[in-house]
Amino acid sequence: MATRRVIPRVLLKISGEALAPAGEKGLGRDQLAFVTSEVTEALGAGVELAMVVGGGNFLRGRDVSGESVHRVTADHMGMLATIINGLALQGSLETAGVETRVLSAIQVADVAEPFIVRRATRHLEKGRVVIFVGGTGNPFFSTDSAAALRANEIGAGLLLKGTNVRGVYSADPRVDSNAEFFETITFDEVLSRKLAVMDSAAFALCRENNLPIRVFHMNEPGNIASALKGDQIGTLVSN
Ligand code: UDP
Repeated sequence: MATRRVIPRVLLKISGEALAPAGEKGLGRDQLAFVTSEVTEALGAGVELAMVVGGGNFLRGRDVSGESVHRVTADHMGMLATIINGLALQGSLETAGVETRVLSAIQVADVAEPFIVRRATRHLEKGRVVIFVGGTGNPFFSTDSAAALRANEIGAGLLLKGTNVRGVYSADPRVDSNAEFFETITFDEVLSRKLAVMDSAAFALCRENNLPIRVFHMNEPGNIASALKGDQIGTLVSN
């Protein structure tokens, strides 16, 4: 809907795991404080920031679904998990003095505003951090897809995907020590090499709408702030 802008407007996708203590489920005080301080630092550089947060630190629908819980119900549970994370981030950011709004794809009127794209862009223009929760609002999707969707809807110039590796490699660097690291790579090359950057629905949305994705290691201090400020860290995937 919105056109691309000159003022930097970025969407940062963080997985739920980034908010959990290492190797554990749930929310970690230190992890929340870490993300909060990185985001707060980057805001000083004058960026309009929207975030999409996952829910994997509580549950993922595909892991819960089975004989007793239908996949659709399990995915609803996953979407609710993202709302818990969004509220945690909001609380933490507001304690640090950053004005935020949580916009949900599913109705939770008592705790978050409904997602309306014009409302989201208005909040961004006013300098508020907008946290999108509830994923896309639809089962069978991921919060990566929500990130790609929302980034396009708000006219973000860049989608930042924080991960636990440095960026995009030719193979999994944790398994293959010869894996080649890419500073830049095209969408077509990612497809032809069958590399995993985001899930295929999210990837296709970015590719078709010419929205670059920067994949970077978000656990290293300074990296989130650096990526938000537009520094060349990690891997840039573009057309
Ligand atoms: N989910 C969904 N639709 C969406 C986004 C998320 O059904 O549009 C559910 C799905 O069950 C997913 C869970 O919410 O497993 C948590 O999201 P995700 O796995 O993307 O979180 P992350 O891995 O980023 O923490």
